[in-house]
Order: sequence, then structure tokens, then C-alpha cells
Amino acid sequence: MIDGIFITHAHADHINGLLSKIILPELSIPMYMSSATYEIFQITAFDDLAKHMSKDQLGTFSISEWKNFILRGEGPFARNINTFEHGSPIELSPGELSITPCRAGHIVGATGYVFEFIDLQKTLLYTGDFTLRSLKSVKGATFADLSSVDVLVCEGTNLSKLNNRRMDSFKTFADKIVNTVAQGGTVVIPAFSIGKAQEAVALVSEIQASYMDSNIKLKVAGLAGQVTKVCARYSNALLNLNLSEVGANVIISSAGTMKDDTTIARFVKQVLPDHKSLLVKGSFFDEEYSGWASNFQLNRAKRIRYGGEDFEVNCEIYEFKIPLHAELYEIESLVTSLKPKTVHFVHTVGQGHHNVTPKFDEDQEMHWGKNFQPIELT
Ligand SMILES: [Zn+2]
Ligand SMILES: [Zn+2]
Repeated sequence: MIDGIFITHAHADHINGLLSKIILPELSIPMYMSSATYEIFQITAFDDLAKHMSKDQLGTFSISEWKNFILRGEGPFARNINTFEHGSPIELSPGELSITPCRAGHIVGATGYVFEFIDLQKTLLYTGDFTLRSLKSVKGATFADLSSVDVLVCEGTNLSKLNNRRMDSFKTFADKIVNTVAQGGTVVIPAFSIGKAQEAVALVSEIQASYMDSNIKLKVAGLAGQVTKVCARYSNALLNLNLSEVGANVIISSAGTMKDDTTIARFVKQVLPDHKSLLVKGSFFDEEYSGWASNFQLNRAKRIRYGGEDFEVNCEIYEFKIPLHAELYEIESLVTSLKPKTVHFVHTVGQGHHNVTPKFDEDQEMHWGKNFQPIELT
């Protein structure tokens, strides 16, 4: 028996599969997610459905018809969705369990949950993917302000990395963009649609605002554009976007799989041979999937093969990373300030395989990434 499903955020590895694997056969389970997460999912669920629904399940309807039917209005999914704003407690079983969703940083709408088991007098925090630091498009996690918790279930993406990643210099990034536009070139920034794209949009808007005479005309294409529109309602940095459809010289577009037949491919092919243009790489290499996008290997080669064609690489290729996960120092700071007796690291490699070990007190118990293992509250 499941009483409720609590969704942390709209990234595929945290929400996909809901529709087809869990929800379609079992339509009566209540689901909880932030209103921003639900709005983003209404756009991106398309991918999930396309991947998981068989021809038989689709019947005579198209995927977008299914998407609208399931997710909007009185659809079966929408009926079981409970959306919330961060900070207002969810009453699942009053008097026994109080659940407070908190902002988690990371991406717009991302949520950590504080579970208070009233009889047991125990508190558990589930962080989901998080950042304590504020990003451009979303402020940092509020659960860092709690006084203490008994059990911490903590994201540990960066514990499996040799090097912790930090945002590269904003000034260098800004100068490259301003210079490219000044010499009549085009800047193309492929970025993951949710999170990285909005960070890139917020960065470029900031450049637009601080270099007033730079003549930057920003376009946000594809899924990234639709998601950014939703996020703009929740993020001050995205509120007053100055976007252009015509004559755009800075283009942020969904990286997708960087495959040949996509919108992004059209932009990439356009800038590769142009010595005045700039291709920003890095925002489509994800911390979670470092081997990802290997079908699009850009190095210092003078020519690359892309989509069955040979391209002379004349444009500048600049690597600018946009990290969205908790760095080691943020994990340590959370563990130090919340003083949990037990920490379970999820979203990371298993025991013995992590490359980085956060500093703990000796009486704190650590568990590494075993999914689907029940957590004891004692
Ligand atoms: Zn995430
Ligand atoms: Zn994740």
C-alpha cells in the first residue's frame, strides 16, 4: 500500500516513468509536487510518454493528445496531483506525520521534504538534488536553516567525481559573448532543457543588462524555450527577459541528444564553419551522465564529422560548465549543521566506489547508495 508519491523535481531521472509505469495502472495514488514541477512536467512529459507507451497503449491517439488528456484539467493524472508552494505543510495523516516541502535550490521547483514522525519524535530530511548556494535562476535550499534532523537522506552526485566542478568565470564568458556579437558572429549554447538552459538564459540576460550597447539578441529555442517560459513565473532572474525571434545572435537551445535531425543540429552546423562564431560547450555535459552526448565529440580537431557530414571547425569552442548539484563543501556543511545521527547517500555510487568522502563526526553513521532499502528510523 502506497499512501503518496512525493516528487522532488522535474528532471527525467526523478519524474519519468510516473505516467506509464506507476500511475497508469494505479490511478488512485495521490502524488505531491511543487506547482512549478507540475507545470514543467506538463511540457516535458511528452518524452516520457514517447519512450514508455506502446503502440497498443496509444491506440488511435497521438502522444500529445495523450499528454493533454492525462495531465490537464480532469485527466486521470491531474486528479491525483496535489501541488504545493514551498513551506506549507502537507497533512497526510494528521497527528502522526507532518511533511513540509522546502525549496532545494538545484532547478526551479526543486523540493526537499522534511518528514516529522510525531509519535516517534523523529525527523527525516530527504534533500532530492540540491544546492545550498543560490544559482542565477533559483535561490538556494531553505532546509539548511533547520536546527537538526535525526536522519538525512542526501544527494551525493559529487561524491563520485574526482574533481568537484565549479562555475567557470562569468567575466570570461561575458567577454566572449560580447566580443563574438561585436564582430558579427553568432553564439550557440546547447543546454539541457531543464535547469542548465535557464541558468544560461539568466546569465545572458545579465550580460545584456550590464553591457547595454552590446546589441545581444537572445533566442531560446525548442523545449528549452517552453520550459523557460514556465520558470519565468517562478524566478526573478527570468522575469523580464528580452528575447528576439528575428536576427538573434545568441541562441540557447535544448541539447537533446545533440543528434543530427534536431533543432540544435541546425544551429551547430551553422556556426561550426564560421570563424567569427562561438560554440559554448559544457552546459550539455551533465554531472550525472558524464559519458553522455559522446556522439558529439568536440575537441581541438580542425574537422569533425557530424550527422554524416564533414565540417571544418572554424568557430571558437569554449567550455563553460554550469554545475547544478551540491558540491562537496555543501554536503559537508549540511551534515555539520543538521547533525543527523544517520546519513544515507543516494543519487551516487555505492559504498567503496565514491572518490570523495565528506567529513563527519565519529558518532554519525553513513550509508552509501543502496536504492530501495528501507530506512530504519530508530
Ligand atoms: Zn536533478
Ligand atoms: Zn538527479
